[in-house]
Amino acid sequence: MAPPPMPPTSSDPPTSPPPPGASAGPPATSSSEPPESLMPDTVDSPEAPASRRGLLLVVSGPSGVGKTTIVHRIIDRFNGVFSVSATTRECSSHETDGVDYFFLDEPTFRGWIDEGRFLEFAQVFGRSSYGTPRDPVEDRLREGRLVVLDIDVQGAIQVRANTPDAFGVFILPPDEGELLRRLRARGREDEATIERRFSEARHEMSTARTCGAYNAFVVNDDLERVVEETVRLIESRLKDRSSESKR
Ligand code: ADP
Ligand code: 5GP
Repeated sequence: MAPPPMPPTSSDPPTSPPPPGASAGPPATSSSEPPESLMPDTVDSPEAPASRRGLLLVVSGPSGVGKTTIVHRIIDRFNGVFSVSATTRECSSHETDGVDYFFLDEPTFRGWIDEGRFLEFAQVFGRSSYGTPRDPVEDRLREGRLVVLDIDVQGAIQVRANTPDAFGVFILPPDEGELLRRLRARGREDEATIERRFSEARHEMSTARTCGAYNAFVVNDDLERVVEETVRLIESRLKDRSSESKR
């Protein structure tokens, strides 16, 4: 699930794709103020050294593990932007189109695939399709921003292949009982859906360990602790990249 809606007045609009039917090109949105980049010397150029580009952060984990909560905190800490995905699943009453997801019908989603608009896409849980619009992500990276994707393992594998310098973090629950408790705490689904997501979680966690798409695995036991751990991992990645570019 997407993090809680970003405030609409924020100077950091979520990345957003071009409207359906428009040709692939620059995103519809742009910040009114120059964005604060991860790197002070960021330049808006495709030729910018790797260290001056923003960082693409991929966050995955089973439903209910705490991704939304953690992603929101990380975005706050790095002045990052959340990549709003497109999906064919139904918009729930808690969600807003264009903020949590771009809710598309099947033909429109397929059209976006054909036009090459997705950085990655997948059918999640064998049902609805989800995809990351490519251009908004690229634009924000060129601005030097931290761009956060909350995507499943299949999507993370595609991102690892097409964006090798992405940083992947997989979030694990402290134990299975706690995962079940948090799934219920979200209050989003009926008990049958919760049970299904819980059993899918086991499969997802074992695939994540072997697929090579993740740089780090963190356990969401205590929220403050896991946020600090993730912040340190990101900072360390940025530092390594910066020293590599100086060599
Ligand atoms: P996801 O996005 O992975 O589905 P959420 O961020 O919506 O997960 O979190 C699911 C539930 O677990 C929410 O009620 C959230 O407040 C709670 N939660 C998240 N992290 C923790 C934590 N470290 N300890 C206890 N509860 C947590
Ligand atoms: P939900 O329906 O609960 O919002 O999300 C279900 C799953 O879809 C989550 O595991 C989430 O990470 C994943 N997901 C959300 N957006 C995308 C996306 O753009 N691409 C992929 N591959 N998975 C996504």
